Amino acid sequence: MPEVRHAALPALFISDLHLSAEHADTVAAFLAFLQGPTREAGSLFILGDLFEYWAGDDDIDAPFNRDMCAALKALSATGVELFYMTGNRDLLAGDDFARTTGMRLLHDPSLLVLGEQRILLSHGDALCTDDHAYQAYRQQVRDPAWQAGFLSQPLAARKAFIESLRKQSETAKQEKALTIMDVNTAAVDALLRGNGLPVLIHGHTHRPARHLHQVDGHECVRWVLSDWHGHATWLSFDGTRFNAGESTRA
Ligand code: MN
Repeated sequence: MPEVRHAALPALFISDLHLSAEHADTVAAFLAFLQGPTREAGSLFILGDLFEYWAGDDDIDAPFNRDMCAALKALSATGVELFYMTGNRDLLAGDDFARTTGMRLLHDPSLLVLGEQRILLSHGDALCTDDHAYQAYRQQVRDPAWQAGFLSQPLAARKAFIESLRKQSETAKQEKALTIMDVNTAAVDALLRGNGLPVLIHGHTHRPARHLHQVDGHECVRWVLSDWHGHATWLSFDGTRFNAGESTRA
């Protein structure tokens, strides 16, 4: 398991902003978040699906992407440490994106070890094991050979393909039972058991909550981060406590 052994505190955790030019209220909330709560933080962990989609690092000069990257870079330039784990929407964000924004890319999952506190970070989609069709798709698009082939296509063709996938995914979601799209408890327990029973933080399901898991007689906390709709929402860790935070709604 890849480990992160230092992060300045307090640490903030966010995911599932699904930033796109079409949702100006969420974009405004993100820019305000980067100018506000993060400036008091030591580090910021973005656990996937920051963008509604990311067609490849060669799309970094699109005006919208350029603005978002500049805002992240401005935060990293203040000394706040930025960590980024890709989700299913932005899994093609890579080294150029990380360099441009001053972020450190994290493997999914990664273990954050802060003194006595062990925190397992994941986007969360790998835990939705009841959705077999999705897991088959995930395995395909996470394959480096598939990614290399996809990235060799022209940017416009990639964007058109992603757009068609998004439409299919909306239709599929409406037809799937809600339980299938949540994490599988046994998969969560196995991940916790295999990593020394840490606190788990993930997003993806858009079902913000604090869950308790009993694993081998030990109580583990699982935080599910909220998606964003027009206002900022995050989890913070100050070295002792976790706290859910949010900005006022516009
Ligand atoms: Mn996701």
